[in-house]
Amino acid sequence: MRIILIGIQGSGKSTQGNLINEKYKIPYLSSGHIFREIAKDKTKLGRYVKETMNAGYLIPDSKTLTIVEEYLKKPTYKKGYILDGFPRTVPQAKAFKEKIDKVFYLKVSDKEALWRLSYRNDVLRDDETLGALRKRIELFHEVTKPVIEYYRKKKLLIEVNGEKEIKEVFELIDSHLKILVKHEK
Ligand code: AMP
Repeated sequence: MRIILIGIQGSGKSTQGNLINEKYKIPYLSSGHIFREIAKDKTKLGRYVKETMNAGYLIPDSKTLTIVEEYLKKPTYKKGYILDGFPRTVPQAKAFKEKIDKVFYLKVSDKEALWRLSYRNDVLRDDETLGALRKRIELFHEVTKPVIEYYRKKKLLIEVNGEKEIKEVFELIDSHLKILVKHEK
């Protein structure tokens, strides 16, 4: 199964991604995590990624595509994956040729997401300053919302109310995944 999770930061993508992973044993991959690993490298690319992320900006499409696609070639992801944070722009979605089974959009208001992010963590990540969070939310509306419409047109999109309890959100996602699994058999 190849699944994509879309939502603003704080919408619960990693929580749901991990729950799906636990139940279906499908590997979970977050592009943000890949970039945070690269940002630790003391190389030109590492420094560039770190600066871009800390400002809340996106890594350019061509770089992102090369890096994510390279990652997905690993044997771990051969049978499927849960992708969080990618594709995040329409050019990324169009260039990404893998056959996707479902795209879940976890819909949460900006206010709720900011509230969750400010209260959930004792320690904020380097790229979670209020300025960077706001920039990321702004970019979500500008460049990622069209990705949602792109997948809606392809009839792959499931919109989920991400403001509900974790368990309820998961039950809804799970109801769709159960059908997919049945069809795979
Ligand atoms: P996230 O953890 O998904 O919020 O990602 C953290 C940061 O990694 C983002 O603010 C971007 O700088 C970078 N990033 C993650 N995924 C992408 C992507 N698909 N395209 C461009 N930049 C990305």
